[in-house]
Amino acid sequence: MELRGLGASAGSAVGRALVVEREARPVFRLLLEPGQVEAELQRLQRAVEASRRQLQAIRERLAFEAGVPHAYVFDAHLLMLEDPLLLGRALALVREERVNAEWALHAVSEQLHARFELVTDDYLRERSHDLDDVLGRIQLNLGGADDAPSLQRLPGPCVLVAEGLSPSEAAELDWQHVLGVALAGGSPSDHVSILARSRGIPMVVGLGEPLRQVPPGARVALDAQHGRLLVEPSPAALEALDDQREREHREDCRLREIRSLPAVTRDGVAVALRANLEFPEDVDQAVAQGALGVGLFRSEYLLRSRRSWPNEDEQHAVYADLCARLGGESLTVRLWDLAPGELGQAGAGWHNPALGERALRLARRDRRPFKVQLRALLRAALRGPVRVLVPFVTGLPDVELVQELLEECQAELEAQGVPCARGLPLGATLEVPAAALQAEALARRVSFMTVGTNDLVQYLLAVDRSDPRVAHLYEPLHPAVLRVVAGVLEAGRRAGVPVAVCGEMAADPLSALALVGLGARELSMTPSALPRVKAALRAVEARQLEEELRGCLALDAAAEIEDVLRRACRQAVPAPAP
Ligand code: PEP
Ligand code: MG
Repeated sequence: MELRGLGASAGSAVGRALVVEREARPVFRLLLEPGQVEAELQRLQRAVEASRRQLQAIRERLAFEAGVPHAYVFDAHLLMLEDPLLLGRALALVREERVNAEWALHAVSEQLHARFELVTDDYLRERSHDLDDVLGRIQLNLGGADDAPSLQRLPGPCVLVAEGLSPSEAAELDWQHVLGVALAGGSPSDHVSILARSRGIPMVVGLGEPLRQVPPGARVALDAQHGRLLVEPSPAALEALDDQREREHREDCRLREIRSLPAVTRDGVAVALRANLEFPEDVDQAVAQGALGVGLFRSEYLLRSRRSWPNEDEQHAVYADLCARLGGESLTVRLWDLAPGELGQAGAGWHNPALGERALRLARRDRRPFKVQLRALLRAALRGPVRVLVPFVTGLPDVELVQELLEECQAELEAQGVPCARGLPLGATLEVPAAALQAEALARRVSFMTVGTNDLVQYLLAVDRSDPRVAHLYEPLHPAVLRVVAGVLEAGRRAGVPVAVCGEMAADPLSALALVGLGARELSMTPSALPRVKAALRAVEARQLEEELRGCLALDAAAEIEDVLRRACRQAVPAPAP
């Protein structure tokens, strides 16, 4: 079987499929080795036993505190534990289909729910909630074991097969054991794809409904270059993939030599290449890839695996350590850029979180998290050049608000006698069209600007960056995008304010060259993309790019622009795979 999707993170991987099914928490479907079945049966029985003890204890306590009639409901729960339809079936599934206990319970739950659906008596139908309660307790007891699989602790090397991953799941994922990721949903420009690229893990998204047919434990081959997933691939297909990997490996070796060379075009125009960072621990790797400092630290990832904001000291430690590791190069920290429901934040379920109460808009409700962050940054800036980047700017008031908070924090720290830097450079992210169109006015208020093309493309073209169904309409080379970016770069030039580009557009060699042709001299990207972009830059002349781009700005469609650029840059950027 061959499934088609979109390559979201380069490379290929061959391994066993680990299928993730979504419930309140993810449930894995694992295929057990015959020798593991007995232990799994015992694990399920132990979890049921633990559930029985807990339910009896609850029943007794309730009978004592509230009277025997109130405890009857737990009698029903205890009876469910004895019911052969439940435990008996789950045990049979483990034994006969060699699946893990969690999955067996999940399957039994689906079957029983289907039965409850047919019941016409409202009271009895309501009892399906009791069933969920009992099954949830057994699942919890299974999960409580140290060796229970979870996204943070995968059972071994695998190709992860899932409907989708939330940014928080991706942030906490046990990447070490992930050979590749295959998603039914997702899109190359969403955060999960960005994380896979930053981890260097191959990923294919938008594989759609057919992905559900992938049997757990099946041998699969993920090929991001061609955007496909092969299930139980033939020896010939595996051989072809091996050849492709060999070519990719040779290309990687060639690029490795480029890391220490300067990022200059053939006619001597220097372009500062910086890193986008999600995880502080990746900074050394970014420097090793040739990054000249961090152009975007997505600070909200500090919230991964925790439900509360990190305090000032915790943040100070992170930022100060980053400064030390960057050896004098600048660290650009973006203030919390969170959408409702992201990274453990409450409020999921809004129809359109991309347009909702996100990022700086949260400061209008509560300034404290932003102030704590600014205080930590002011302190850390004593260790190295720190720049503060304001996300999701829609106009001048946003920048003014952060300027005000920054001054307030500085005054407070000084009053408390806490050593801190003064007057940190403040920058605006231009990712909302309204802000990009006000670049001239913003440039008078900030020290630097950064074009966030990931969101800018989404908002300009009205294309949801997380929706695979419209991923083909997500066109960074769309003439409207290029014209807006050109306007921002021009506004920066006139005001003498540096403008960087930090969206994924800068990580794609052809688009990066287009940006340089528009006048960009600072690009920030996922570190793994740095050598490839640098190699492309070193093979072109900026003057020629500028001329080409002047012509491109007059064209009507992204496809035409791409054609012109591909022809002009064919020496620098290899043609995509057929
Ligand atoms: C952007 O929008 O281009 C950007 C860099 O931010 P993020 O991808 O985190 O939204
Ligand atoms: Mg953004």
